[in-house]
Amino acid sequence: METKTVWETYSYETKRECEGFCKEYMDFLSRAKTERECIAAFRQQLEADGYRPLGFYQKERKGLGPGDKVYEVHMDKTLVAFHIGSQPMEDGMNILAAHLDSPRLDLKQAPLYEKEGLVYLDTHYYGGIKKYQWVSMPLALHGVVIKEDGQRVELTMGEEPREPVFFISDLLIHLAQEQMKKKAEKVIEGEQLDVIIGSRELEPILRLLEEKYGITEEDFFSAEIEVVPAGQAREAGLDRSMVLAYGQDDKVCAYGACRAFIEDETPQRTDCLLLVDKEEIGSVGATGMESGFFENMVAEVLSLMEKGKEAVWLSTRRCLSKSRMLSADVNSGFDPTFGDCFEGKNSSYLGRGMVLSKFSGSSGKSGGNDANPEFIAYLRRIFGEKRIMFQMAELGKVDLGGGGTIAYIPARYGMEVVDCGIAVLNMHAPWEAADKGDIYEMKRGMSAFLTAKNNH
Ligand code: MN
Ligand code: MN
Repeated sequence: METKTVWETYSYETKRECEGFCKEYMDFLSRAKTERECIAAFRQQLEADGYRPLGFYQKERKGLGPGDKVYEVHMDKTLVAFHIGSQPMEDGMNILAAHLDSPRLDLKQAPLYEKEGLVYLDTHYYGGIKKYQWVSMPLALHGVVIKEDGQRVELTMGEEPREPVFFISDLLIHLAQEQMKKKAEKVIEGEQLDVIIGSRELEPILRLLEEKYGITEEDFFSAEIEVVPAGQAREAGLDRSMVLAYGQDDKVCAYGACRAFIEDETPQRTDCLLLVDKEEIGSVGATGMESGFFENMVAEVLSLMEKGKEAVWLSTRRCLSKSRMLSADVNSGFDPTFGDCFEGKNSSYLGRGMVLSKFSGSSGKSGGNDANPEFIAYLRRIFGEKRIMFQMAELGKVDLGGGGTIAYIPARYGMEVVDCGIAVLNMHAPWEAADKGDIYEMKRGMSAFLTAKNNH
């Protein structure tokens, strides 16, 4: 099979579009590091394109019809949007889905303490991380504190060049003879991931929090503060071919999906954008894919469209079962340094375009989604027409590990779902790498999926 890179196939014009797109993507990554910040950014993009919250249509008693644009945000951490198509929604939707949460360190609810004059914030890590990667690097704090009276204080500390950053200490090499003999999972342990925020005792820090942010120690009880790598998304490589940034899993797919969604101006089938939280800890909770939010919103939209017709629950079921979904998440790009963890023929490679994974899961495909060949053939056809470069890949060698995505959850409705995404290097590390050509090609692939005529 031919192994051209996306970049080789792009015209001068397309290369410029790709560069422009990636620049906007990097700007987004630099300011949206948490789920809430992503939701705020996407809400802004949707509003600017004429999308209105569900409540707007409900209050106006306007009903919904072809061409209408509606979205809803749930608990500031998950979002669904619909661009109503000219065909009945009961015939199904074209859905782009991705997740917004990324591995990180969350502050505990009683995080503050002092030891020998050093002041710490205690953390509990979120998602799959290699703990040793998080020490001795600049860290930032992002999050919200909800005061007892409901007042909400939003925090970002450590991102502006003149703002102070935070860090977790590592043992100096001179005294690390015992540490260096430990297994990688024990070199730094969960309880050692405590962030240093000062070296002049606790009292002045408490005063500073009170004066500058109006936060008391007890306010951390009702706070969600995430510790993330400080700093902006960067171009990587002498050829500037890549993006190195925190949280590309899975913000790269979320960003591409939102852009492709907004760009489709006259959908035949209804377009749907679904951005969820909590994928990294098993899609659980009210804002994860397991939540009833998505299904409820489909029912709400249908109830505004089909008054007096059959029971909404039935049309909701019909709509969902006839839908098609690209469940977008990053794939483990082939890494020559660790080549023996991959099986070359069925791996994704940086620069070779969008990735389709027929199945996910671990050991015997356990816990994964397995897409139908009929659906993959359909995608090959529409990608072929738009000359979208794609590669087929699984997550690595059989029996070395594996992983799941959200794909198996919507598949329960009986819809066609396939995993897709792009190759990244050092997935789940504080800084993840992706190829610019892939980033743009995935967006093009998502657009091709949404705009495909329904006569396929
Ligand atoms: Mn992911
Ligand atoms: Mn992940």
